Amino acid sequence: MTLSIEALNVAIEGIPILRDVSLEVGEGAMVGLIGRNGAGKTTLMRAIMGLLPPESGRIRIDGRDMAAVPSYRRAGLGVSYMPEDRRLIPELTAEENVLLPAWANGIKDAAARLEWIYAIMPEVREFRDRRALQLSGGQQKLVALARALMPGRKLLLLDEPFEGVAPVLSRRLAEVFGPLRQAGVAVVLSESDDTHSADLVDRVYRIERGAVTVG
Ligand code: ATP
Repeated sequence: MTLSIEALNVAIEGIPILRDVSLEVGEGAMVGLIGRNGAGKTTLMRAIMGLLPPESGRIRIDGRDMAAVPSYRRAGLGVSYMPEDRRLIPELTAEENVLLPAWANGIKDAAARLEWIYAIMPEVREFRDRRALQLSGGQQKLVALARALMPGRKLLLLDEPFEGVAPVLSRRLAEVFGPLRQAGVAVVLSESDDTHSADLVDRVYRIERGAVTVG
C-alpha cells in the first residue's frame, strides 16, 4: 500500500489549516510526522481518513483518488487511524473493543486477525476479558493500538502514540511497531519532537503551521 498526498489544502471553518501539503509513504515504510502542538498533525490524519474535506489537492491510496471514497470505506481498504485520545468504550472488554471495528466493517477474518494481534501483543490477550474502564492508561493504549490494527492491515496512522506514555510502555510500543513493518503495514507516526520516532522511521516529515517539509 502506498499513500501519496499532493498539494493538499484543508481549512476548518474557513481558516486554512493545511497548506500545500505533499507527502509520500511507500509500501511498508514508516514515516514520521513531527511538529509541535497545533501544527496540523491531527488535521492531516483526519483528512487522510476522509473526516475533513480538502479545499484542493489529492490524497491517493495505491494510486486511487480518495476524494470520492467516503470515510467509512477506509477500513475496508485496510486503512486505520489511532487517535491521540484512546476513545475506548469503557463498558466493553478489551477484546470487544478490539473486535468493534471488525463488527462495524464486516471484517470476515477477524478471528485470524485477532490471533495475529495477540501474537505481537500477548499482554492484550492476558487482559482481554477485563473491561476497558478497569485497565491502566498504558493497557488502554495497547488496546487502542490493537483496535487500530484490526482493520489497519495496510496503512496505519498513529497520532502521537508516545504522548504521555511512561518510558517502559514507550519501549514496548516501539517493539510492537517492528512486526508491522515485516507484515508490510505502512505507518505514519506523529510526534511533537523526534524523541521516540528517530530510531524507528525511514523518513521524517516536519510540519509547521500547516506546511510540511522533508527531513
Ligand atoms: P495537537 O498535538 O495539539 O493535536 P496537531 O499538530 O495535531 O496538534 P491539529 O490538532 O491538527 O494540530 O490543529 C491544527 C490547527 O487547527 C490548530 O491551530 C488548531 O487550533 C486548529 N483546529 C483544529 N481543529 C479545529 C476546529 N475544530 N476548529 C477550529 N480550529 C481547529
